[in-house]
Amino acid sequence: MPSKIVYSCHGAAREVTGSCHRIQCGDHQVLVDCGLFQGRRDEEAANAEAFGFDPHGIDALLLTHAHLDHCGRIPRLVKQGFKGPIYATAATRELARVVLMDAARLQEEDAARASRLRHRRGEAERDPLFTLEDVLRTLDLFAEAVPYNQAIQITGGIHAEFIDAGHILGSACILLSLEDGDATRRIVFSGDVGCSGRDILRDPNPAPAADYVVMESTYGDRNHRSLAESIDEFYEAISRTLARGGNVVIPSFALERAQEILYYLHRGTKDGHLPQGTPIFLDSPMAISATEIFRRHPEGLREAFAEELSHDDPFATPNLHFTRDASESMAINRIEGGAIIIAGSGMCTGGRVRHHLKHNLWRDKSSVVFVGYAANGTLGRRIVDGARRVRIFDEIIQVNASIHTINGFSAHADHDGLLNWLGDSARRLVMLVHGEQERGMRVMNDTLTARAFQVALPELNTPVALA
Ligand SMILES: [Zn+2]
Repeated sequence: MPSKIVYSCHGAAREVTGSCHRIQCGDHQVLVDCGLFQGRRDEEAANAEAFGFDPHGIDALLLTHAHLDHCGRIPRLVKQGFKGPIYATAATRELARVVLMDAARLQEEDAARASRLRHRRGEAERDPLFTLEDVLRTLDLFAEAVPYNQAIQITGGIHAEFIDAGHILGSACILLSLEDGDATRRIVFSGDVGCSGRDILRDPNPAPAADYVVMESTYGDRNHRSLAESIDEFYEAISRTLARGGNVVIPSFALERAQEILYYLHRGTKDGHLPQGTPIFLDSPMAISATEIFRRHPEGLREAFAEELSHDDPFATPNLHFTRDASESMAINRIEGGAIIIAGSGMCTGGRVRHHLKHNLWRDKSSVVFVGYAANGTLGRRIVDGARRVRIFDEIIQVNASIHTINGFSAHADHDGLLNWLGDSARRLVMLVHGEQERGMRVMNDTLTARAFQVALPELNTPVALA
């Protein structure tokens, strides 16, 4: 009987968000990630579209890490009939819980708002993509935590090994060993690859030998500034803003970046790079919860940092306020200058940061410091790209604040970092995903082709036979 090992991409094909990959091995099927599309013009429709496979037929799901663009469509998958186990590391399980609960709340709020508008127009209400109940059912499916570097049997002839990706706490690349009849194949999914030489997380492990590699290419077209330069730039932007009496707004992802920012604020204040006594607000319930999860998972951290965490609090700074309540968050809006405000979402597509932008973008003394990636089409990207005016909550806001983009904090490996991760052992095929087609993906394609790799850019919902 001919063997049947097939790969297909169901999200993050020729774009950055929506990661979802399917492997069929004989009669069994597994998914690697099932993330939300973010920042697309047709985002709502894209997330509501059929998956391109039958969720009932999927035996198991393996999750590389807890970012929403990798886990955000799982509740919908469950709603549509997926009942298999979900495999993830211990930290990813905990972070995914926080991320998905928050996403359900946003889905329900957005749907309620849209429904009110539609109602007035005499149109049908809009259902949320998924609800809190769908998330709770999803959380029940998480299997026992998967340790790094240990092969586990998933189903049929499919084995998996999770390997530290150094991207966010708990993140992993996943190596699948596939057996069907006489055919055996190894395919590695990069998930998101982190940067080396960071303070909190370990370096990403290099990719293991495999026949096929499915690799992200978010920053495949550039090399980041060094971390040390970026930290200096960060301190400089903050000090200048505070000196002229403005507020510093830092749109930040709740996971990883927020903790990194807290750590550098801690260090900068301690070392005298930042003024003492500045009020700092972490205005993100999700980031506050994530910070607690970091404290509970020293096994996912760099040894020196875990050591520091055991006797000091490297996330704390005098005058740091964690604001969980909406009323506390609103009180921050009344501060005209002299504060540092960290809030989500990192791409400014939702969350409390939009309120802080509304209150600070028009002030010429304030500044907005971007410390992470902002996808095409998002409010964050428009500001980074120099928009003079932006629309926030149906209001046009003039951009007078200084805008800083500090890209050395990136949680994603850059061009050289991806090549280091990939190594040069002979491989059959590198499939590039999770990148902008005309940027990271194109440049990485050129580089790899010049180095004699075979490269493919998978298309959405299109099967590729591996054996
Ligand atoms: Zn990620």
